[in-house]
Amino acid sequence: MKFKDNINTWIFDLDNTLYSADSGIFQQVHRLMGEFISKNLNVDLTEAKKLQSKYYKQHGTTLRGMIDNHGTNPDYFLEEVHKLDYSIVGPNDLLNRELKKLKGRKIIYTNANKQHVINVLERIDLTNFFDEIFDIKMANYIPKPEIKPYEQIIDLFNINPKSSAMFDDIARNLVPAKKVGFTPVWIDAGYENFSDDIKSSKNYLDYETRDLSLFLKDVNDGAI
Ligand SMILES: [Mg+2]
Repeated sequence: MKFKDNINTWIFDLDNTLYSADSGIFQQVHRLMGEFISKNLNVDLTEAKKLQSKYYKQHGTTLRGMIDNHGTNPDYFLEEVHKLDYSIVGPNDLLNRELKKLKGRKIIYTNANKQHVINVLERIDLTNFFDEIFDIKMANYIPKPEIKPYEQIIDLFNINPKSSAMFDDIARNLVPAKKVGFTPVWIDAGYENFSDDIKSSKNYLDYETRDLSLFLKDVNDGAI
């Protein structure tokens, strides 16, 4: 059975999946998070960076660590760390062409907030393309790769996992995807996210690609 004959629900991560990892957006978010921690916990930037990295590793997101340890207001945090210069992100015509050929529902599933998704989609010419957006607020601030929000998505959008594929640049986010029955596709962006655990996630990755647009082209051409 061909990939496209099997799949009618397409679940995409946003950052570093639907636009390039070297756009610099991630670096901006990273910097703003450090500054937020420094300002709000009244520590210097070096200490703030240590906490940022520690919370990311221990809690899945820096935000989750800030909520659990300091009672940070999540909406305020998300608003502050997404005050970004989006002008550096632009559309990928090949990717957009292949995305538009896919049949079925398209969903964005991100650990970021909805306003960030809207801002990015506008820059990459995909405004109103996706049927659903599932953001960190809808997940009650429980990030990937915790399994709960994956189960929540299935219920909320009435998804049949067996006919769903999920795309993400972080391998460990695909472990729960596989566990709930999605077909996982890892976008190997060519760098190792410091929180990722590629080695132990490998067994869960049904597909891997260095380039999402080429992968989707193969899907649409029936080569996979
Ligand atoms: Mg990502």
